Amino acid sequence: MTLHKILVFDSKSYDEKTLKLALKALNGQDKLRFTFLESKLTEETVDEVQGYDGVCVFVNDVVNTHVLDAIHKKSDTIKIVALRSAGFNHVDLETAEKYNIKVCRVPRYSPYAVAEHSVALLLSLNRNMHHAFFRTKQHNFSLDGLVGIDLFGKTVGIIGTGGIGMCAINIFLGFGCKVLAYDVFPNEKAAKEKGYVYTTMDELLRQSDIVSIYAPLLDSTYHLINKEALDKMKQGAMLINTSRGGLVDAKALVECLKSGKLRGAALDVYENEKEYFFNDYSQQVMEDDTLARLISMPNTIVTSHQAFLTEEALKNIAETTVQNLLDFFDGKPLNENNEVKAPPKTEQKK
Ligand code: NAD
Repeated sequence: MTLHKILVFDSKSYDEKTLKLALKALNGQDKLRFTFLESKLTEETVDEVQGYDGVCVFVNDVVNTHVLDAIHKKSDTIKIVALRSAGFNHVDLETAEKYNIKVCRVPRYSPYAVAEHSVALLLSLNRNMHHAFFRTKQHNFSLDGLVGIDLFGKTVGIIGTGGIGMCAINIFLGFGCKVLAYDVFPNEKAAKEKGYVYTTMDELLRQSDIVSIYAPLLDSTYHLINKEALDKMKQGAMLINTSRGGLVDAKALVECLKSGKLRGAALDVYENEKEYFFNDYSQQVMEDDTLARLISMPNTIVTSHQAFLTEEALKNIAETTVQNLLDFFDGKPLNENNEVKAPPKTEQKK
């Protein structure tokens, strides 16, 4: 039996643990061998792929044309890029296809994990948990500056009503919020059954007290929330983004927050996050002024792309990744939702 060697980039202790458990659970130990690397896949680290049959990457690994060209030159044995993510905006699919490198992903591992994190961010931001936590740690029991708003009865604007957006809608309806939604493919049946309303993007921005984004990053959605969109938002609204950093123009958001227009913003993703997220830079001076500014604001919460990070999601990611690899090396067709192909020319992933 051939043992296929897979190099796992951007690997953390929880990836190693869950992938090894999944390999055992799916009886794949004689077919796949994982090597775990902490470093991300980049043009600088691509030499490491020599001698492997596949690479396994996460959201901030670089799988652009240059890296795929280099992979092809260094190691023509690499036949598959297994993404441990649903999003594939970081992969140049056309170049992968050119080199006959299959790309697979984990399309749905836990929409609940991401939706719940976005709600956690909103609740923390609104009720100033990020300040309260540090105050009581220092035996400061004052309440000045901690006033929030009731979410009950408020209007929440959901941009993107796919897997994660729909989970978020359920939660906000449970809070007693009015939910407005915008999607390029509205699900009117769900809207009728659940009791939320589709509207235009402009109306959603104008009417919502909270705007939360659950759309993919595409050329057409890059900087979906830009200065013009922020200008349309209600005075005192809150913005939540747990989807992809590139959906929000971070510089425009900084200006908007400085002007006092928004009550606050909570972000799990940031457009230049790959320079920082997932690693400890606490001993270094931050060079990214926009990220530094966002983090420094009292009415902004930034988490480092952790919305997916639940035990259930990690288990699903690991098991689907191992199953994708086993199917591929067994010559079986991949689950059609798990295989990623280059989109038609008109709608390229950003
Ligand atoms: P999905 O494909 O199930 O749903 C996305 C929805 O967005 C679809 O209904 C689609 O029609 C809609 N959409 C597409 N273009 C749009 C536009 N221009 N305006 C409004 N809606 C549009 O995706 P999902 O699994 O729900 O993921 C949502 C987002 O969450 C993605 O950006 C994904 O990358 C991100 N995500 C983040 C994390 C994290 O840890 N922070 C984890 C998983 C997924």
